[in-house]
Amino acid sequence: MKYDYPDSPLYRLRHSAAHLLAQAVLELHPDTKLGVGPPIENGFYYDFDFSKPLTEEDLAQIEQKMHEIAQRGLDIVRFETSRAEARTLIEKMGQVPYKIELLDAIPEGETISFYQQGDFVDLCRGPHIENTREVQHFKLLSLAGAYWRGDERNKMLTRIYGTAFFTQEELEEHLHRLEEARKRDHRKLGRELGLFMISPEVGSGLPMLLPKGATIRRVLEEFILDEEVKAGYQHVRTPEIANLNLYRTSGHYPYYKDSMYPPMVFEDGEELILRPMNCPHHFLIYKSEPRSYRDLPLRIGELGTVYRYEKSGELSGLIRVRCFTINDAHVFLRPEQIKTEVQHNIELIQTVYRRLNLHDFWYRLSLRDPSNKEKYIDDDAMWETAEQALRDALDELGLDYVAVPGEAAFYGPKLDVEVRDCLGREWTISTVQLDFLMAHRFDLEYTGEDGKPHRPVIIHRAPIGSFERMMGFLIEHYAGAFPMWLAPVQVVVIPIADRHMDYALKVHETLRTHGFRAEVDKRRETLGYKIRYHQTQKVPYMLIIGDKEMEGELVAVRSREAGDLGAMPITQLIERLRNE
Ligand code: ZN
Repeated sequence: MKYDYPDSPLYRLRHSAAHLLAQAVLELHPDTKLGVGPPIENGFYYDFDFSKPLTEEDLAQIEQKMHEIAQRGLDIVRFETSRAEARTLIEKMGQVPYKIELLDAIPEGETISFYQQGDFVDLCRGPHIENTREVQHFKLLSLAGAYWRGDERNKMLTRIYGTAFFTQEELEEHLHRLEEARKRDHRKLGRELGLFMISPEVGSGLPMLLPKGATIRRVLEEFILDEEVKAGYQHVRTPEIANLNLYRTSGHYPYYKDSMYPPMVFEDGEELILRPMNCPHHFLIYKSEPRSYRDLPLRIGELGTVYRYEKSGELSGLIRVRCFTINDAHVFLRPEQIKTEVQHNIELIQTVYRRLNLHDFWYRLSLRDPSNKEKYIDDDAMWETAEQALRDALDELGLDYVAVPGEAAFYGPKLDVEVRDCLGREWTISTVQLDFLMAHRFDLEYTGEDGKPHRPVIIHRAPIGSFERMMGFLIEHYAGAFPMWLAPVQVVVIPIADRHMDYALKVHETLRTHGFRAEVDKRRETLGYKIRYHQTQKVPYMLIIGDKEMEGELVAVRSREAGDLGAMPITQLIERLRNE
């Protein structure tokens, strides 16, 4: 459930829960200075300047105190003051310097209000619920450092996060979702399942795929490349560095300098840069030959690796990284082809999602803000054609979408696909971005039916998006239990004793020659241990080999989903795996 800023019942409840937290903190640690304490999307927080560091035990104690204060049934009362009275009051409470700074930040002429419950008074705009007794179903969740007013030149305060709901069921459901999210965290699973590693010696934000992670990546790459070939794409390979001038032409340098790596400058003055995007390389490939209207749409694709500088505080596993590979392509087309080409792209996206078993997603159409046209590239006719074409494309396919005016890039409208994972969290995975600008910047042309030169429209699109991010998403969505076609190890063969090894190796060989990713567990461990281990590794199939299986030329099959399937001839198993 989302709270509606600024005045939904849930907003008020959580805002009051934040005040309750501050009151509890002051009763337990009276010399604490208060910062700010707003409600947020899934709860609330309050920032404090404690005189000594807070521990997890302190947190439990504070939560208990909150319950105790709530039960006092204090009325929450608003009162207004003059600016001078407010200052005196804050100083009398000893809430300097932060609350004074907040007071000073209130614009001249605006009402200054406080909220009071019992002895506790806080400078606050409100609104709040009426009595502390209403705050019953809450939980303090975590501690974090937070710079005062989000500025790293300021003091680091202690932020306490919590959440609150109107009913115990809603609270428990939310806590359950948080717990699930922790279990599914791709950084944790990535380590446990041996998918990837990040080493400070290589550098932060630079994940390395281990054999199992690299297998998933390769399977995804092969899948998308094949689908794109079917969809009429031509793949190219271009270098990951380029002359800096390429990005001066595109206009990204110096405007996006902060997210690029610094140029490498050579003795002769040549400047090379790690590419932040693949587009210019593809534009030059387009330009390498004369193009006619008959050649369009021309679809140039590449699994292109790019480098972007992200602040170290923002890096996270596979999801926020400093180097990633995009399932990128640029389609060059005539304006009248926009609708069909966008539909063509949507179909490709749908193919990808069907294969990944993603069914809960929606389309967001980012359009120009019609009241603010000077913010966008000046080509009214093109904007109107393109926006209408995008709407028609979606309408004809009968797809629901949300149109958001003002969200378009300055060079064209775009279509994003938002996917909900199994915990209901939304991820922007695929995009289809129209571009009316780069063809001008790079002087790209095609010869029209009229024999004259025309500018093509360009579509930048990526159904998978970044492979790193997609893998992070898939790990969390599947909780590491990849479907058969993506599972790095599809079948593990487990001989019960050494005398079963030869037959196990034979089974393994048969599976491999039939194209399955299979392994033999040769370790001298008990059968129970091995089964438990491969369960934690979420391997789709385990084949147990004992005397009975060896004599009957059978395999005893345990499926991750269906449990014990009993013994069967290997041919029967292969048939079953094929169908999956
Ligand atoms: Zn591009």
